[in-house]
Amino acid sequence: MAICKVRVIGGGLSGCEAALQLANRGFEVDLYEMRKGAGKTPAHKTSNLAELVCSNSFKGLSVSSAHGLLKRELRMLGSFILQAAEKAGVPAGESLTVNRELFSAEVEKLIAESGRINLIGEECTNFADNIPTLVAAGPLCSDFLTQKIIKQTGGKKLHFFDAIAPVIESDSIDYSQAFLMNRNEKGETADFLNCPLDKETYFEFVRLLREADSVEEKPFEKNELFEGCLPVEEMARRGLDTLRFGPMRPVGLGKHYAVIQLRAENLQKTLYNMVGFQTRLKWGTQKEIFRLVPALKNAEFARFGQMHRNTFLESPLILDNSLKMKNTFFGEGSIFGDRSPKIYFAGQITGAEGYTEAVATGWYAAWNMANELLELPQNLLPVGTCIRTLVDSITAPNEHFQPINFNFGLLPRPENLKKNQKKEFLTNQAQDELKKWILCPASCNFVQCAPSVIPA
Ligand SMILES: Cc1cc2nc3c(=O)[nH]c(=O)nc-3n(C[C@H](O)[C@H](O)[C@H](O)COP(=O)(O)OP(=O)(O)OC[C@H]3O[C@@H](n4cnc5c(N)ncnc54)[C@H](O)[C@@H]3O)c2cc1C
Repeated sequence: MAICKVRVIGGGLSGCEAALQLANRGFEVDLYEMRKGAGKTPAHKTSNLAELVCSNSFKGLSVSSAHGLLKRELRMLGSFILQAAEKAGVPAGESLTVNRELFSAEVEKLIAESGRINLIGEECTNFADNIPTLVAAGPLCSDFLTQKIIKQTGGKKLHFFDAIAPVIESDSIDYSQAFLMNRNEKGETADFLNCPLDKETYFEFVRLLREADSVEEKPFEKNELFEGCLPVEEMARRGLDTLRFGPMRPVGLGKHYAVIQLRAENLQKTLYNMVGFQTRLKWGTQKEIFRLVPALKNAEFARFGQMHRNTFLESPLILDNSLKMKNTFFGEGSIFGDRSPKIYFAGQITGAEGYTEAVATGWYAAWNMANELLELPQNLLPVGTCIRTLVDSITAPNEHFQPINFNFGLLPRPENLKKNQKKEFLTNQAQDELKKWILCPASCNFVQCAPSVIPA
């Protein structure tokens, strides 16, 4: 099969990783980045490729942290963006923190030197013609392209979501202070874990929420609070009982003054979401206030609550586990007619939240796309690795799908694994599975793996 031209939309973290991986596999890549021309987003400030919109940290490096593990995997798989970040690194203890200008300059250099990437400084408005396309247009995807994706994926399948509630690691919850029950005991299985507060604790909780500092609003967030999902601190400011009639209402849950409900985030119930607790409080403040709840006094947060404009696909319905748009959207009678365009998605638009996650999904979608276009057998990363786990978590059936960071709670594990063996087991499992995969003939001919993986 002759190597063809491919298109990557978005010169952010995921799009640049994907473009570099595709060029490395021999493809000619048209990389569209609208900020190189007249395009703007509400959060980006420069026209640089791979601009970091907020913090300059890719989080932890130690393999005892989830993000450290994810980075080890990316290093083993020859991620270009990780190499650029390491080159632009500044001293920051155990985390990979970069000089953001140097980092973007490193990425621009890699793109320019690849020799196969044609950087186009325009907004791309088409993703579903006959050119194989990888969409990595991020959470602030241009309006026109967003509308087009909505139309072509059948209408309601792209969310605009501005609120995210915190997620808690289940083994940090004090179950002696919580109870399993659905409101009014409806349903055959109890899906909610309820965390009650007495009157005194509730008053203190509301007082702290009212006085707490919020993260500064971005201009585009102003006046964009939907009444249907107000931040909890905003509800607390509206009245002492507002929360007790809202997300903390005890009705149908026995005799309690107020109750916070937790709902499992994943099938293994290793993570719980605080239902209705969208917040824009500073992360340290969230930890301090939410730990007032007796069941959450030692809570570890896999993700803090956040609010920002966020465009993401309902990936469980739209993408398969290679990050390709599902075949159900193609074929006779579909909007695509009898064509089956090859369309992949990567980065935050898939619901994989965070800088390192954007790089990881960019690598993954490009790998699978290249294999398909080269007519090689599909060769997904193995179950148990961090990247595969992240992708499975955004593509598995999930009625309450929301963006997620990679964290230890997502990794598959045996049921009876002891708490103190958890990290070691998961760390070894991820490394062993990936090493086996890299060294098998179907992978090793193509992956630019780190020298440490290749046996002497
Ligand atoms: C305000 C905000 C703050 C965030 N802060 C953090 C943080 O501190 N830490 C963290 O880990 N994560 C953060 N995130 C989440 C996420 O990790 C980042 O958004 C990350 O940059 C996502 O990478 P990406 O490649 O998917 O998208 P982006 O890095 O946003 O790249 C997408 C690119 O596509 C371009 N584009 C969009 N539409 C088109 C089009 N039609 N044609 C051509 N180009 C187009 C955009 O200009 C952009 O450069 C934040 C997100 C937001 C919105």
